Amino acid sequence: MDLYTYIRNVKDFPKPGIDFKDITPLLNSPVATLACLDQLLKMLGDRKVDKVVGIESRGFFFATLLAHKLNAGFVPIRKPGKLPHKTIKRSYALEYGDDHIEMHIDAIENGDLVLLHDDVLATGGTAKAACELIEQLGGKIVQCNFLMELQFLRGREKIAGYDVQSVLKY
Ligand code: AMP
Repeated sequence: MDLYTYIRNVKDFPKPGIDFKDITPLLNSPVATLACLDQLLKMLGDRKVDKVVGIESRGFFFATLLAHKLNAGFVPIRKPGKLPHKTIKRSYALEYGDDHIEMHIDAIENGDLVLLHDDVLATGGTAKAACELIEQLGGKIVQCNFLMELQFLRGREKIAGYDVQSVLKY
């Protein structure tokens, strides 16, 4: 099955110059979704995972599916001000200025084995900040996996040292 055909490229969204990778056609197909999930699980192998951390918001879809399959807990990382309980925060650079992400302070226990997941690895700034949050709480990152990797942005260099995997490469 050619999973690339389930990714819609939307030019100049949300702003000029961005080639947006839309995963809604993939999510709309149960067969393609399952094939993608199988590939993510295959990349992980038989490694044990206690928590799957998903990054808001498109990272949530497959992170929850992965957590279910791995019999692990799901942990959301969210944009500022969305999580109701006490949080820890990390800022990361955007094209202009910076932003931050948050995670609940009790979401990960010291020594937890953690799989980080997001839909797209672009510049890697978000994933790096997410890794820092996980490690701040004592989590051990088993793998960072993504549906897609925009290789020309060299995001994996920002998270060098981790096992970085992606299903589709652009
Ligand atoms: P970055 O921090 O640059 O690696 O950006 C990663 C985050 O931005 C992910 O949560 C993606 O969902 C989103 N993102 C970045 N570039 C794209 C793109 N071209 N299409 C869809 N989502 C993107």
